[in-house]
Amino acid sequence: MSETNTAPTRDFIRQIIDADLAGGKHTGVVTRFPPEPNGYLHIGHAKSICLNFGLAKEYGGRCHLRFDDTNPTKEETEYVESIQGDVRWMGFDWGEHLHYASDYFEQLHDFAVELIRQGKAYVDHQSAEEIRANRGTLTEPGKNSPYRDRSVEENLELFARMRAGELAEGECVLRAKIDMASPNVVLRDPTLYRIRKVSHHRTGDAWCIYPMYDFTHCLSDAIECVTHSICTLEFENNRALYDWVLDQIKPACRPRQYEFARLNMTYTVLSKRRLIQLVKEGHVSGWDDPRMPTISGMRRRGVTPEALRTFCERIGVAKADNMVDVALLEFCIREDLNARAPRVMGVINPLKVTIENYPEDRVEEFEMPLHPEDESMGTRKVPFSRTLWVERDDFREEAPKKFHRLYPGNEVRLRYAYYVTCKDVVRNADGEVVELICTYDPASRGGWSEDGRKVKGTLHWVSAEHAVAAEARLYDRLFTKENPMDTRDGSDFKDHINPDSLQVRTAYLEPYLGTVADGYVCQFERLGYFCKDRDGTPEKPVFNRTVTLRDSWARIERQTDAKG
Ligand code: ATP
Ligand code: MG
Repeated sequence: MSETNTAPTRDFIRQIIDADLAGGKHTGVVTRFPPEPNGYLHIGHAKSICLNFGLAKEYGGRCHLRFDDTNPTKEETEYVESIQGDVRWMGFDWGEHLHYASDYFEQLHDFAVELIRQGKAYVDHQSAEEIRANRGTLTEPGKNSPYRDRSVEENLELFARMRAGELAEGECVLRAKIDMASPNVVLRDPTLYRIRKVSHHRTGDAWCIYPMYDFTHCLSDAIECVTHSICTLEFENNRALYDWVLDQIKPACRPRQYEFARLNMTYTVLSKRRLIQLVKEGHVSGWDDPRMPTISGMRRRGVTPEALRTFCERIGVAKADNMVDVALLEFCIREDLNARAPRVMGVINPLKVTIENYPEDRVEEFEMPLHPEDESMGTRKVPFSRTLWVERDDFREEAPKKFHRLYPGNEVRLRYAYYVTCKDVVRNADGEVVELICTYDPASRGGWSEDGRKVKGTLHWVSAEHAVAAEARLYDRLFTKENPMDTRDGSDFKDHINPDSLQVRTAYLEPYLGTVADGYVCQFERLGYFCKDRDGTPEKPVFNRTVTLRDSWARIERQTDAKG
């Protein structure tokens, strides 16, 4: 991976826009981000948001947020609100251009009437099964509907009756009259309108016919004078229909559809339909569970919008589907937090240390920088006393050769405090080490020795009496399989949920962490980045681990470079 290249690369979409502007086809750029409000946004949507809003920003144009709300059964206001919050949090703004496809229902209806008048649409009374059976296959043409040659007058009257609620759900649909033998199945008289006698989250009971995606999307783009309508590759075949509708209606503004590869990521599921299952079946605590690949989940976990935007920039925009290694996302999060997160101390797997030559009633306060390289972050005070917590992993009874931390007889530095030497261990009835007896060198105050004596290990620690007991939530990937969506082995994605994706520990934290606000992100030295969660109470704060400090991405890159 090359170092951060901030200049936007000229991917194929930017090349197309450059040419459109240079050739005078357009004088400005208008894009849109068109989510269906049927779930929370995930990191795949973040890619689309960065692309659409990013283009608008780069070219001095605008990007609309348009809710594609044509399916009343699955859509809810909760989703509309979360989506707006997520886009804003990502750092983008739609200005006055908050739109809803449902705002165009009247206009879309009139366009449908226009198609009927042109003889380009008809009301089909075939059942859903008949329509499916007569559609043909990839190798065989479809069959014309027996209702295909209804007169314009009859179609106008039937469509009016559909709208008036006189016909039953499923009784008939409005279809475009294109070509039942087209090699592109999408063009075999696609459905434009269907009857749905359900309330809509915005239009209530005003409508009982609802337009289909393919009819709605291109016309909404045209109504808003979108210039470049960017969607994912699975809509490639739908482009012919997008263009067909616009060719018949001839709106004043003529948008074009371009397709790019959707984001797929290892160990991750990116599909609202599947994410909703995880939520509804209780596999996670909600849409914003910190293990979810949703924008709200990542925000709660401590990921910043900058890290997400950097990630989207690094993966780029291409025309071929691929799978992005989740380690790249973790790398971007780490790199971002490394620069911005204050350093503090907490112990997540505690082992007691008693410093036998330290006076029992004495407490010292050490003033420590919040970031070793960024003085502007300031300092905080950390109390030191005779009884401390250190990390259990920082002690070994039998130390291997390169182990420079605590073991009997060894001297280490307690970060910014003193040198201590392990003298003895205390065991419980099971023989397990429960306490270390140490001595400290009063001449090493601040964590360095006047005689220039060197110690190799530097450990983090917390004064036991002053510690804040917190809940630390340690997360691992939600799925154990690299591609949980691969069903070739007959398995379901839920078969691969990682049973150990959440581990809860009691952690002891320096007192400063009892005072920080929810959402505060910091590095617990040597343990990873942590974010204070809203679930906590003043007595028991909760911290989510955002990422560990271990970077597997650099290693992957080195291997790839070595290979080739
Ligand atoms: P999902 O597949 O998760 O259900 P969707 O495509 O149904 O997503 P929409 O609300 O229709 O969700 O998506 C809004 C926009 O986000 C669309 O333009 C869509 O192409 C884009 N988008 C959705 N998923 C991804 C992804 N994984 N990578 C890139 N863009 C995506
Ligand atoms: Mg969709």
